[in-house]
Amino acid sequence: MTKEEIKVFCPATIANISCGFDVLGVALDSVGDEMIVRKVSEKGVRITKLEGQDLPMETLKNVAGVAGIELLANSDYEGGFEIEIYKKIKAGSGIGSSAASSAGAVWAMNELLEKPFSQLQLVKFAMEGERLASGVAHADNVAPALFGGFTLVRSYDPLDIVTIPAPIALYATVIHPQIEVKTSDSRKILKTSITMETGIKQWGNLGGLIAGLFKEDYELIGRSLVDHIVEPIRSILIPGFDEVKKAVVQAGALGSGISGSGPSIFALSEGASTAQNVAVAMRGVYENIGIDYEVHVSKVNVDGVREL
Ligand code: ADP
Repeated sequence: MTKEEIKVFCPATIANISCGFDVLGVALDSVGDEMIVRKVSEKGVRITKLEGQDLPMETLKNVAGVAGIELLANSDYEGGFEIEIYKKIKAGSGIGSSAASSAGAVWAMNELLEKPFSQLQLVKFAMEGERLASGVAHADNVAPALFGGFTLVRSYDPLDIVTIPAPIALYATVIHPQIEVKTSDSRKILKTSITMETGIKQWGNLGGLIAGLFKEDYELIGRSLVDHIVEPIRSILIPGFDEVKKAVVQAGALGSGISGSGPSIFALSEGASTAQNVAVAMRGVYENIGIDYEVHVSKVNVDGVREL
């Protein structure tokens, strides 16, 4: 019997991961939204419930609605969908709040329609939600949210997503200082060109990070978590950034950087206990500065969006 309703977990994601601006991302396990999607006979997509965050419920102002409309436009399904969104990820936090809703909506709809679309097609639909959230249809959050694990957007045209395995003991610690940095603002301040010298350093690190993930070489992962292009500019918007970077390495992290467009800061560690020590170190910095924060410690999520 075909399902009429499905409840899903929509993971938070870290995009960029230092050297992989706009191309790398990873899904988290212990933080994400929940969503219920239901088939209805009335055409179109309606958000019927939205709890946890103050976000627009109008279909075309909510990324879940926009991504869902894009899926419907490519489907011969005659009916529509109702969506209930239970937000746990704060919007604008830099851990893929919008991507979780876009990816969750299209994944759930595809399940209810008995999977007419490939994962890659779902990424394309979800990217339309990202266009609404930030003005740019980037895939570096929606790809890991849908595929799970680490993903590389090898090419945007044509869209080509490569999944990358994660070493079993790799953990992420993410701190979200409670200040607002809009994705659109943090994009505006970036330069539009780089020197050859900077490019060489950056793709050296990106290759190193990918190789480190495949080889399960934690040292190599740590050495490669360096961003010569975006971090030096964007980190100015995040109070305490330099202190956090120093503190997490002292606590044993492999390395750290800005999560997505910030203000969240992520660190990667080998093992859960180190990741917890890193959380303590991050908290200490913001306690000193006097800014409220939220911390998440998570294993890498290898499934992406999943049914609950
Ligand atoms: P993040 O980096 O956490 O994804 P963004 O700044 O990219 O945050 O996206 C948040 C923006 O998307 C906000 O302007 C928010 O109003 C808008 N938005 C629309 N629908 C949603 C949704 N379902 N979940 C989260 N953000 C949404």
